[in-house]
Amino acid sequence: MTNVPLLDLGPQNRALEAQFEAAFRDVLRSNQFIMGPRLEAFEKDCAAFLGVKHALGVSSGTDALLLALMALDVGEGDEVLLPSFTFFATAGSVARLGATPVWVDVNPHHFNLDLEDAARKVGPRTRAIMPVHLFGQSGDLDALQAFAAKHRLRVIEDAAQSMGARWKGRATMSSGDFGATSFFPSKNLGGMGDSGLVTTQDDALAERARILRVHGMQPKYFHREVGANFRMDPLQAALLHLKLPHLPEYNCARAGNAHFYHGALKGVAGIAENRPGADPAAKILLPVDFSGQGIWNQFTLRVTGGRRDALKAFLTERKIGCEIYYPIPLHRQQCFVDQKYRGFDSVPVSERLAGEVLSIPIFPELTGEQRQWVADSLADFAAGKGA
Ligand SMILES: *Cc1c(COP(=O)(O)O)cnc(C)c1O
Repeated sequence: MTNVPLLDLGPQNRALEAQFEAAFRDVLRSNQFIMGPRLEAFEKDCAAFLGVKHALGVSSGTDALLLALMALDVGEGDEVLLPSFTFFATAGSVARLGATPVWVDVNPHHFNLDLEDAARKVGPRTRAIMPVHLFGQSGDLDALQAFAAKHRLRVIEDAAQSMGARWKGRATMSSGDFGATSFFPSKNLGGMGDSGLVTTQDDALAERARILRVHGMQPKYFHREVGANFRMDPLQAALLHLKLPHLPEYNCARAGNAHFYHGALKGVAGIAENRPGADPAAKILLPVDFSGQGIWNQFTLRVTGGRRDALKAFLTERKIGCEIYYPIPLHRQQCFVDQKYRGFDSVPVSERLAGEVLSIPIFPELTGEQRQWVADSLADFAAGKGA
């Protein structure tokens, strides 16, 4: 039996430990602990990496979404289309501004927003759409832009799980009015604490976000409007700056692990790829990168026939880490149930996925022995050994 954690941050950060220590010393001796050149240098390289005009470091991925919405004046009376099957922050940021989330369903194969369902749910008060490039796979950015143009909606890409993912060569975070990502430790570019990034191609929106990031202050101690403290620490920026050049190799290693799982489980009875028309007898459906340029933040199985929790117990018994992202669709969260926001009764795929999904280890530094043990265990379960 080989112990396989769902995520082990140790090897990746240990490899850069001496550089992190030097960066810490540099920041310590600079005595500049808020804003400044280290943050600006990181922002500049993030913008270049993503092919965007402006990138602003902020306090978290959640605050990145919040700041983007604020800069677009989204507030009371406005509706925002977003998936019910995502992490809480996507909807939480909208609700915190007094705006109204409208629940849109997701596609059962790639887990991203279903634009046909979004079309059914656009209303006269709809101001914006917030697609989530879930688990590291970009949604169709061309279709998204056409949809937003047709309905005159603002677009905020929640790219918290997709920094470096592309759609036909175009990076996520480069197509909307704003892009938002997170450097939470479990994301593909993981920091040593909380922080995030907001991107835009629009000079005026960038300027507005820059001012809102520091209490709406411009110039110093003059406040034209109410912002907040959404700043990213230069220490965090300096540490992440050391990891940024390695992001392509981290993402590549994750894709290598996904490729391994697909190869090892090809043709195994009871296991199929999660594509339209997959064998209905399959018990375990493997996630497919339809975009071809995803970054595999998660490798998320669908387990059919009500057997998800049984597989979770089976893997846990074998010391293989796994987790349910996400067990409760957002329209069913206690803080939202009473509001009955539009769409609450018409997101069947989101409800179904919440009962079927299970994410397994995919982090870049998985060893050959570890990933083989995971694949063997899935094959054993499919063969009925876990029954
Ligand atoms: C992680 C995440 C966020 C929030 O990021 P934080 O940095 O934790 O605030 C938002 N949306 C999605 C889809 C996420 O996965």
